[in-house]
Amino acid sequence: MPTLAKAYVAISPTAPLESGTVERRDPGECEVGIAIKFTGICHSDIHTARGDWTSINYPVVVGHEIAGVVEAVGAKVTRYSVGDRVGVGCFVDSCRDCANCRAGEEQHCLLGAVSTYNSVGRDGLPTAGGYSSSIVVDENYVLRIPDGLPLDSAAPLLCAGITMYSPLRNWNAGPGKRVAIIGMGGLGHMGVKMAAAMGAEVTVLSQSLKKEEDARRLGAQHYYATSDRASFEVLAGRFDLIINTVSADIDVDQYLSLLALDGTLVLVGLPSKPLTQRAWSLVAFRRNLAGSKMGGVPQTQEMLNFCAAHGLGAEVEVIQASKINDAFDRVIASDVRYRFVIDAGTF
Ligand code: NAP
Ligand code: ZN
Ligand code: ZN
Repeated sequence: MPTLAKAYVAISPTAPLESGTVERRDPGECEVGIAIKFTGICHSDIHTARGDWTSINYPVVVGHEIAGVVEAVGAKVTRYSVGDRVGVGCFVDSCRDCANCRAGEEQHCLLGAVSTYNSVGRDGLPTAGGYSSSIVVDENYVLRIPDGLPLDSAAPLLCAGITMYSPLRNWNAGPGKRVAIIGMGGLGHMGVKMAAAMGAEVTVLSQSLKKEEDARRLGAQHYYATSDRASFEVLAGRFDLIINTVSADIDVDQYLSLLALDGTLVLVGLPSKPLTQRAWSLVAFRRNLAGSKMGGVPQTQEMLNFCAAHGLGAEVEVIQASKINDAFDRVIASDVRYRFVIDAGTF
């Protein structure tokens, strides 16, 4: 019998999220039923709920930074048992057969991965995310949260964590590499922690000087305010890797000018307007402009294990579900230190 889980629902781009329910199927034979404990508020949830991106099908239950405990397993589930601590990230299924799925890059499935929300599952029904008290997911798309990680600070790792870990690993952040993170929000602060743990020299490029003390505590050696034009002169040609997490427009040329020979600017922030840049900014010093989208299942598990080994979790402010709309406004105003996490017991 399907159950009705408590949820917070976006019904239109302009209305506040409201308390409601979402139907959850019984776990199929390869599926896991998860009692959600905590869900992080990613800026992508806000972009979706508020209609910043196209093709949003309301009503939608957002949330893709999910941490919880297994409460039921299907007959053929082998990886998980009732009571296991688990996570679910940005996607809950993919074709499993294309070259990218086979390479463990399911987020780039050639047939399109099934997103945790605002997507259509293999059962033909809309998917609904983690702003709810439970979820049912195929075991192959469920992650194990190592014992050392508290569930509240682990939840944001399922999107913010992997979205930063993946480009840091793919562009070889480590000793001798100068890495800059633009924007110290949910993604950015995890990028600082992880890049520092990998042994890179880390610089934070933030709008103001307000977060400097925190950035240094999280592992940054250098910190510059991007509101000060002089920062760009001082830092010209400095970095091997820059990761941009800003959710608004940025001056791409200005940041490309901070790259050293063969350096790469990786975009992970997703502003709604197109970006522009001059060819010369790339031609000079053989610079690269790239993008990166989350990470696949194997790399997400690797990231969780890395975080457990290094004692890394998100800096979180746990809130009740009734505060979600206020939290959205505070995230947009860059007034979050550094991730809101909803206590799923309050849905
Ligand atoms: P967030 O917590 O709001 O952090 C973004 C940070 O960017 C802010 O804390 C702020 O940092 C800076 N910022 C915000 N507005 C700015 C402005 N107008 N000008 C300059 N800097 C500004 O958001 P998030 O959850 O980390 O997500 C960031 C972006 O990544 C969103 O667009 C989200 O949709 C996207 N995202 C992408 C992926 C992917 O796979 N590629 C995955 C998850 C999220 P400072 O105060 O330090 O400047
Ligand atoms: Zn996200
Ligand atoms: Zn595929």
